Amino acid sequence: MTEPAEDLDWRCWHEPGSVEVAPGVHRLPLSLPMDGLRAVNVYVLRSRERVMLLDAGWAIERAEAELVDGLDELGLGIGDVTDFLVTHAHRDHYTMAAALRRRFGARLTLGEPERVNMEALQRREPWDVVPQRELLIRSGAPDLAEVMGTMDAPFDRSDWPMPDVWVADRQQLDLGDRSMTAIHTPGHTRGHFIFHDEAHQLLFTGDHVLPHITPSIGFEQVPPSSPLRDYLASLHLLKTMPDATMLPGHGAVGASVHERVDELLAHHDDRLDATLTAVASGAATAHEVARCLTWTGRGRRLDELDDFNRMLAILETYWHLEVLAERGRLARSGGDSGPVVFETGGRTS
Ligand SMILES: [Zn+2]
Repeated sequence: MTEPAEDLDWRCWHEPGSVEVAPGVHRLPLSLPMDGLRAVNVYVLRSRERVMLLDAGWAIERAEAELVDGLDELGLGIGDVTDFLVTHAHRDHYTMAAALRRRFGARLTLGEPERVNMEALQRREPWDVVPQRELLIRSGAPDLAEVMGTMDAPFDRSDWPMPDVWVADRQQLDLGDRSMTAIHTPGHTRGHFIFHDEAHQLLFTGDHVLPHITPSIGFEQVPPSSPLRDYLASLHLLKTMPDATMLPGHGAVGASVHERVDELLAHHDDRLDATLTAVASGAATAHEVARCLTWTGRGRRLDELDDFNRMLAILETYWHLEVLAERGRLARSGGDSGPVVFETGGRTS
């Protein structure tokens, strides 16, 4: 059963089932093993010869059952899927595509700049510590770095096979009666892509622009030197494009991309200001600054967050400090084997 987009409720976007969110575009929200994000949106795009899933979910049994049911509502089976197009190499978007390709075939496409992360995943051993451990030490949070080994989901290299096709920035993707432009938007990950259907004024934003939350920054195998700088540039890039309807990786469909980009830019401006204020009042490491800030929409303190979200908060603070240092607003020193220390004033190192 499908229902028109205008009936969509922001509170129930995550309820399982197929909803036609734009002409010819059906959304199937799939469950995730943890509650925080509630679900991941999978979009079904079909033409006469092809059935494409744009993002594919986290490979867990419950999500696969929901996908089977949702496709069934559309008169389709998993074996009918010809293409997986994935916005970025995060577990909640990529691993279901990998698992289903192994069993049913279909072509898996990912953004070419994500290759660095995928190659690192190919080399990674199950006992390797996650790369964020080092960043936590640089952030002045060695205790949290110690528990990092148990923080990631159990690692199995077979969850991360290489895609069949690497898509390049500005490449046109032809899906019979629909064509989309692939656009590289680094920040959430270095190889994150969004997909623009200009004729229908739709933008599949993945986790680059989300309606309810601000995406994590640079949480990936090989974080670049300044992922927040990259992320802000990728937000500004969207303002140079025509506005479109947002079809995000998590959350309700339908908002204006430009309006949400403005909110996200304002949010990061506020965070940069608050970060500067915290350093001016004596906080020197990312961990100390993160303790001065409030977190989540409910204004939580850092100590109230679970380990995983505390890690994301501290790393996000670290990237804000790096941007302020790049802009010459803060000086940075240290970081060889201990924390990077920030202070107000110009560059010193
Ligand atoms: Zn996601």
